[in-house]
Amino acid sequence: MHDWKQALLRQLPSVDSLMRHEDILDLLSKYPHGLVLECVREVLEDFRKEVIRMEQPDLGPDNSMLISQIACLVDDRYPPNFRQVINATGVILHTNLGRAPMSQKAAEAALWAGSRYSNLEMNLNTGDRGSRLKHVEVLLKRLTGAEACLVVNNNAAAVLLALNTLAKDREVIVSRGQMVEIGGGFRIPEVMKQSGARLVEVGATNRTYLSDYQCAVTENTALLLKVHTSNYQIVGFASECSPSELADFGRGIGIPVMVDLGSGCLVDLQAMGIDGEPKVSDVVGAGVDIVTFSGDKLLGGPQAGIIAGREEYIVAMKINPLARALRIDKMTLAALEATLREYLWGSPEGEIPVLAMLSVSQDELAARGKLLQQQLQGVPGIETYLIRGESQAGGGALPLQELPTFLVSASVPGVSPEALAAGLRRGNPPVITLIRDDSVLFDVRTMDDQEINIVAQCLDRVVRESQF
Ligand SMILES: *Cc1c(COP(=O)(O)O)cnc(C)c1O
Repeated sequence: MHDWKQALLRQLPSVDSLMRHEDILDLLSKYPHGLVLECVREVLEDFRKEVIRMEQPDLGPDNSMLISQIACLVDDRYPPNFRQVINATGVILHTNLGRAPMSQKAAEAALWAGSRYSNLEMNLNTGDRGSRLKHVEVLLKRLTGAEACLVVNNNAAAVLLALNTLAKDREVIVSRGQMVEIGGGFRIPEVMKQSGARLVEVGATNRTYLSDYQCAVTENTALLLKVHTSNYQIVGFASECSPSELADFGRGIGIPVMVDLGSGCLVDLQAMGIDGEPKVSDVVGAGVDIVTFSGDKLLGGPQAGIIAGREEYIVAMKINPLARALRIDKMTLAALEATLREYLWGSPEGEIPVLAMLSVSQDELAARGKLLQQQLQGVPGIETYLIRGESQAGGGALPLQELPTFLVSASVPGVSPEALAAGLRRGNPPVITLIRDDSVLFDVRTMDDQEINIVAQCLDRVVRESQF
């Protein structure tokens, strides 16, 4: 080997010395030791190979170059992990931020079910094999008023299973006003195609009458489907059939009626001044044969798809082989059971965060806003205002509902709101905010007191770093 090559290799820092470098120590505060070590070795090894391949002398290794390569590799290989963030957007069911945060009891239930053995599928009285659905069936029947219930992985799975079981290779009649896209590519017409059912569209975008369904029925019709327009509303010259109208018609001609409620709500939101989201038990009570809804929207529990309806249809779905592919996990099931018990025998408005955030009083929001504004005063150069605005329910629920709230707007001269928002988002913990005009906005509806206290420190760090 050339002398110059040996000299270059000798200049290479040792693994140990790199591991003690302050920039690497910084990485070690965020990433596991083993991962950083692996990347340090890999970058050094790559450099050695490069030297051996060199045709002529080149510059020697430069520590800062090596370190930035190591940092990139660490980030690249195991990008910043799944972690807690502070939601300052006021969007209660923010799908990108994990939708519904669960109650304390539900989270504890998921923890024990995940870390212990359980009677998931064993009847403890007889010792025989049992059904995992037993743990929630009775509770769901009471809460929805349905004859039978079934739970799967999410509501998209619920719709797929119901259509596949009841309408494969047959026709399903749906109103043109209800061709919903939920986001993330979930479109009713496409799910129907996957289920093997044939879609028959009736009516116009803004108006569909019972007579439209009547005209479309053939001997091949398996199901009449109504999809709750959960993330939009057709207003103005518009009308659609109610669940009870459809249910009466379906019963008369012996064809089942299904309503995909999307969000699905178990309590009377009208009592909280919130309109537009039917209660599951009202839809079941209207005579609808199958109702599907999510566990992690307004219900405020874990991700799940709940199917409530007539026994004969639910039984048929349970024995469909697809049910096995779509089945609910044990931790989710434990969390769902705890959530449903809270509805039946606890205080859902106090303990289920989604309901608490929906029903929080204006006085409480104003107090949180003032607290946040006060905390933010210490940030150098900051200008803040406490303002009124509207929060959104989000997650494809209550699209038109206005939820009056208090927000704190914050601006810092010389730092753009985009830079502030990005700095907060990349911080630790990450804080997700809104931007309006020249300010970042914090909606206190989705923040608790502890988070309000942390946010000021986060913003302080961002501002100091950007001025540095
Ligand atoms: C949200 C929604 C779905 C999908 O529910 P997931 O639980 O997200 O799978 C289906 N239909 C409607 C009407 C919805 O609002």
